[in-house]
Amino acid sequence: MNIIVFDLEWNQMEKRFLKEDSPTLFEIIEIGAIKLNKDWAIESRFSSLIKPQIYPRLNRITENLIHIHMKELKNQLPFPSVYKSFSNFCGEDFLFATWGSLDLLELQRNMAYYHLPPLGTGPIPFLDVQKLYSIAKSDGKSRITLEHAVEELELEKDIPFHRAFSDAYYTAKVLQAIQSEELLKMVSYDTFHLPHTKKEEIKVRFPGYEKYITREFAEKTDIMHDREVASTRCYICHKNIKKKLRFECFNGKHYTSIAYCPEHGYFRYKVRLKKTEKGTYYGVKTAKQIPFEDYLKYKEEREKLRALRKQKKKVYKSNSSK
Ligand SMILES: [Zn+2]
Repeated sequence: MNIIVFDLEWNQMEKRFLKEDSPTLFEIIEIGAIKLNKDWAIESRFSSLIKPQIYPRLNRITENLIHIHMKELKNQLPFPSVYKSFSNFCGEDFLFATWGSLDLLELQRNMAYYHLPPLGTGPIPFLDVQKLYSIAKSDGKSRITLEHAVEELELEKDIPFHRAFSDAYYTAKVLQAIQSEELLKMVSYDTFHLPHTKKEEIKVRFPGYEKYITREFAEKTDIMHDREVASTRCYICHKNIKKKLRFECFNGKHYTSIAYCPEHGYFRYKVRLKKTEKGTYYGVKTAKQIPFEDYLKYKEEREKLRALRKQKKKVYKSNSSK
């Protein structure tokens, strides 16, 4: 399998030039990519500017950052043609890699705008090199810029930044520097297209945790009523295990639960409720093995939150009865 490391440059008109019915899309004006083979070596390169069809002028910030002018873009091919060449360049058996998660999302938004066939039937796996860099070199949570990573790794800055090809090239260089078989398994999922059916839902096991992306739901409240979402299963022995703390939500965003497997210990489940651009909902559930001490901490915190909630209710009731 090859890895297609790509980067995009896009444009959106300044607000004062936008009409009421203007689409709120970042229009892609350049695609740059590097193909890495299974030995992580550069096999081929792709670079193309794109003739804008949506916004007739460039945002000044874009123009200054990437040093491209409209005059230059007007002689290029439009997005659907360039995308076709890019798709041919990618081939059949590949995994996308990008710095951060925005590029794959914007690529798909532009594809949808031109009614091009989607990349797949559901969420698209990809390597988020910015995240992988943090996992390899830092705490896995912090995020730094591509340029900063290139400096930290003391890679040669042989071409200027902020053009699609150069940023794809540096992202590929970073990936080469941190590559490992383990890292290759740490895929992220782009959820521009969600699973349509129960069968298409995504469940992946990572070192130390499991991730589950549900299908689309019409109502937010439907998610926690789904049997699979509300279940607590040990992802090691696959048995349904007993809840120690039932699913509860204290912040309006996610539900947590803790369950205990007699064989494999404590597990924490977290369900994040997410809204799509269409106004539908889906859930991302993670299950993580935790030590007994963490269970105690969760238990204590929950008791505090519950007391706080009770108190708030009391205040509300006494205020509304006045
Ligand atoms: Zn178990």
